Amino acid sequence: GENGVNQIRKKFLEFFESKGHLVMKSFSLVPHNDNSLLLINSGMAPLKPYFTGQEIPPRKRVCTCQKCIRTGDIENVGKTARHGTFFEMLGNFSFGDYFKHEAIAWTWEFLTEVAGLDPNRLYPSVYLDDDEAFEIWNKEIGIPADRIYKFGKEDNFWEHGEGPCGPCSEVYYDRGEKYGCGKPTCTVGCDCDRYMEIWNNVFSQFNSDGKGNYTELIQKNIDTGMGLERLAVALQDVESIFEVDTIKALLDKVAELAHTSYKEDEKKDVSLRLITDHIRSCTFMISDGIMPSNEGRGYVLRRLLRRAARHGRMLGIKDTFLANLANKVIELSKDGYPELEEKKEMILKVLTEEENKFNKTIDQGLSILSDIEENLSKSGQRIISGEDAFRLYDTYGFPLDLTKEIIEEKGFSVDEDGFNKAMEAQRNQARAARKATNYMGADVTIYQSLDPKLTSVFEGYDSLTDTGKI
Ligand code: ATP
Ligand code: MG
Ligand code: MG
Ligand code: MG
Repeated sequence: GENGVNQIRKKFLEFFESKGHLVMKSFSLVPHNDNSLLLINSGMAPLKPYFTGQEIPPRKRVCTCQKCIRTGDIENVGKTARHGTFFEMLGNFSFGDYFKHEAIAWTWEFLTEVAGLDPNRLYPSVYLDDDEAFEIWNKEIGIPADRIYKFGKEDNFWEHGEGPCGPCSEVYYDRGEKYGCGKPTCTVGCDCDRYMEIWNNVFSQFNSDGKGNYTELIQKNIDTGMGLERLAVALQDVESIFEVDTIKALLDKVAELAHTSYKEDEKKDVSLRLITDHIRSCTFMISDGIMPSNEGRGYVLRRLLRRAARHGRMLGIKDTFLANLANKVIELSKDGYPELEEKKEMILKVLTEEENKFNKTIDQGLSILSDIEENLSKSGQRIISGEDAFRLYDTYGFPLDLTKEIIEEKGFSVDEDGFNKAMEAQRNQARAARKATNYMGADVTIYQSLDPKLTSVFEGYDSLTDTGKI
């Protein structure tokens, strides 16, 4: 239908094209010349040099639909209705051209006239001190003052690591009472799924050095971002991003492979959503040349892939299944991302190899883990030793986060300091061995050997958040 994900993407780009914007294709998920970021997490990220004036943009007005990955949202995936590690961000950008008036007017025009959302369900927010934006919403657009929310820095000052930043104005969509948490305090800005943030307009006028120092940019810019999947949720009036047309078709495929169906069992549903999200991330990452490894981006890929594989096990899937799902991702998204079709063979090969590798050890690892749990329980302990966690990582390919996730469900925890010590000891050993023989470690991927600068040392998932700092 006209509200399908692929149709909405097209409508958005055509609308901004009609407002003088150059439609550019999505940039790679791998940042170019930007060490502050592990993976592209917003439409503006690959455009930073145009904002700062370092490079001349092809036009002062640009719009994109950018593939994004936010590992910082990983804990939310499958649990909230609106977060994926992978999503598409629609955005219009002005490099020293138009500013707040036009940006806000077009946001409103697109949402209410082109997309056709009910204006009575939309609520804008502005940064506390941004009287200008408040006045525009109130006087020029005609939104009553009591429907415009004022928030502080936390929500309405957009800043991800170093680079352009500034106050922002967001638009929330009221999905109705049935999605609310029911608390008397539930209103715009509540964490639950009722008032869903759909669009962020950033008035980027400062440059941050990432250390708390701001300088006024010579040019005033506009940077906006709207989650394509979230807009589709509003337009298709479905429960979550996992039920919009394209993603639901993928989720159904997962359910089919697991011989189950969605909405049968809440626990299974979490796994179905999680696999659906993670396979999207993995497919897109590989199409951009990222290979599974133990470091940096490659480790993000490995972790997502193994987490999906483990949830497949939980659903009773015995055979390798990820390549099969990737096929579906490609089929559903090649409209917007032709590179998926071009790289298909490679994507399927990498997924199959990595899944096969993990499949050889996953069952053994899981059974060792339950032995460990049993022994600890007998002696009344709740903490798994660092050495045990490291052995699971090193010999059975269990990323630490995966071990944690599995055992936390049962009330155990891991001695992380002990794990890090064991890891460090092994690294030192490997380093010494490398020095002695100039041996290229077995886990050096093709990708790393092509350009060592492109990978970064893994420092734990906490540091891989969407603040972009590693
Ligand atoms: P939230 O508060 O819901 O986590 P955010 O404030 O972190 O969102 P922004 O950085 O403002 O998000 O990004 C712009 C838009 O991108 C959001 O308004 C939303 O529509 C979309 N978006 C952000 N994170 C995700 C995600 N993890 N999955 C899907 N869409 C997202
Ligand atoms: Mg967020
Ligand atoms: Mg937000
Ligand atoms: Mg936001």
